[in-house]
Amino acid sequence: MKLGLLGLSFLISFGAFAQKIEEEVFVKGFDKKQVKLIEANPELIIDHAFQDGFELYGPKGMKEWLKNVGIDFVENLSHSHHKSAEDAADYPSYQEITKFLKDITAKYPKIASLKSIGKSVEGRELWVVKISDNVNTDEREPEFKYISSMHGDEITGRELTQFLIKDLLEAYGNDPSITELIDNTEIYIMPSMNPDGSQRRQRANANGYDLNRNFPEYTRNDQNTSNNRQPETVAVMNFQSERNFALSANFHGGAVVVNYPWDATYSKHPFDKLVKDISLRYAGLNSEMRNSREFNDGVTNGADWYVLRGGMQDWSYAYHNDLQVTVELSDTKWPRYREIPGFYDRNKDSMIEYIKAVHQGAGFKLADRNATGKVSIIKVLGPNASEPKGSYGFGHGEFYKVLEEGKYRFNVLVDGESSRRFFEVTVKENTVYVDGNYTEL
Ligand code: ZN
Repeated sequence: MKLGLLGLSFLISFGAFAQKIEEEVFVKGFDKKQVKLIEANPELIIDHAFQDGFELYGPKGMKEWLKNVGIDFVENLSHSHHKSAEDAADYPSYQEITKFLKDITAKYPKIASLKSIGKSVEGRELWVVKISDNVNTDEREPEFKYISSMHGDEITGRELTQFLIKDLLEAYGNDPSITELIDNTEIYIMPSMNPDGSQRRQRANANGYDLNRNFPEYTRNDQNTSNNRQPETVAVMNFQSERNFALSANFHGGAVVVNYPWDATYSKHPFDKLVKDISLRYAGLNSEMRNSREFNDGVTNGADWYVLRGGMQDWSYAYHNDLQVTVELSDTKWPRYREIPGFYDRNKDSMIEYIKAVHQGAGFKLADRNATGKVSIIKVLGPNASEPKGSYGFGHGEFYKVLEEGKYRFNVLVDGESSRRFFEVTVKENTVYVDGNYTEL
């Protein structure tokens, strides 16, 4: 009773869903009662739960509250950080990264372009590199994206994505399988979603918000609007709505695992087997993940690990039909820079294979690039057997969806038309289709 009252007073002082990070601690142990008590306060953020404890973030007064309710914690998160100045100095600065991205895209103008999708709180550009053949044309090819370091102190992915950009571009015309991938896919890579946070070596953005709790949440029926969201979140939301992404991943640090949806609920994702399969493909090519002692085969369902609301991963699929997983790249969030090439070696094949997985799907394109409508997908299991695979809205005159292997029937109703169009198509694994497995309608 006493604990409940204290919890309530905490809620009243800080307001629900503030999710501002002003204090951070490591809570020792994993006591279910304590976790429940913490989870009852939506402004507290649990992250990276392990047997020995978990990270906890929250507004001012959180530590005081923890003491009052008798939850044990240590002040700093040094177990997962290397925050010495020396370790920071070796990393490229925002200016150096900007120069690198400008130079490398200028060197390969036919297959690479650079665009800022918005500005951070402190005015830094939010750079996205596009890699594809005919890069300045919006071709109808499967669209894929990587986003890294929305948590500013989880730095490994920011570096790995830059290495990947360089390797993909240099391999074009030399490595047949990379050339095929670039010719038939629109690949977007955003090394740094939170440059202000990385500059300060902190999790939150410059306003103190956790960007991975800042997205519309489908389990709360949030509107997919940018009202009251952080500029970095809004930039990604606008970018996503302009495109037709079908598969993506976002890179974090503090563990080594591929985390697949849902994060916010224990119910199974409608494509549970598919998301798990694709996650296993990533983890299977990474020796550290594959041999994980914490996670079976180096993968975990999000909510099974810990429940997270307002995250980018769930939002991406629930609102945009873009299957997204979260890849945790390094136990240490900010490793020594000299360790980065080793992390890249262990992740490079996974990163490339995961992009290829976007071709495991099917879609259609219409002559009218502004056409909108609805599509329902049915998996054909036999002459008299089928299984509905959901209905989806589409825009931009095209639709594409990553699917399990098999035969499918698509029923398409274009807005303004009275009769349906339909087609049947087969989806195969490990195939890069010429311009994607699209049917022209
Ligand atoms: Zn993170």
